[in-house]
Amino acid sequence: KKFEDFGLKDDILEALNTLHFTKPTPIQEQSLPYSLNGRDIIGIAQTGSGKTAAYVIPILQALWDAQTPYFACVLAPTRELAYQIRETFDALGSNMGLRCVTIVGGMDMIDQAKELMRKPHVIVATPGRLMDHLENTKGFSLRALKYLVMDEADRLLDMEFGDVLDRIFEILPRERHTYLFSATLTSKVEKLQRASLRNPAKVEV
Ligand code: AMP
Repeated sequence: KKFEDFGLKDDILEALNTLHFTKPTPIQEQSLPYSLNGRDIIGIAQTGSGKTAAYVIPILQALWDAQTPYFACVLAPTRELAYQIRETFDALGSNMGLRCVTIVGGMDMIDQAKELMRKPHVIVATPGRLMDHLENTKGFSLRALKYLVMDEADRLLDMEFGDVLDRIFEILPRERHTYLFSATLTSKVEKLQRASLRNPAKVEV
């Protein structure tokens, strides 16, 4: 299968071309039919599988039709991963005026609050710092969120982000799409899946 077969917007196809992503990786090929149709996804895939683009592509496809602020939020266990994810968003969204910010611990809260006030479409965050802004940054809310991603969910849980995740779920809209990606499907990850996804398609590579 080719990327052209999925009905993607030209802006996205051109960006894929620029990156020399000539054909979908297995996790992309298997998850895109579901994610592009609005299904929640649980993806079991390692780093290096192309899992990031597997969720960035359907989010950008949906964002293309309705460019609203705070459209999607990706939760990552570490700053390094958050920055890598943001690079993928920036690269694949470069033709459509995407605004993406990274909100991670160890950086200045006020600077981050200013970035959030510029109404980005996508927020890539570590959970603790995101919760901090949800509680303390006036004018920032995720009430209009359409897409939530948990990347490297097994590591999110290893790093004791479980309680913060539960608090974040409580304030996110229930009507949303959720993608959960993990290298391993542990019982903790299954519990997280039950707490956050609705009728997900399971994709394993
Ligand atoms: P990830 O598993 O998301 O960390 O991606 C691993 C690497 O594969 C990254 O360097 C991506 O830029 C690259 N990649 C992702 N999708 C494709 C694709 N369809 N074709 C070629 N490279 C890709």
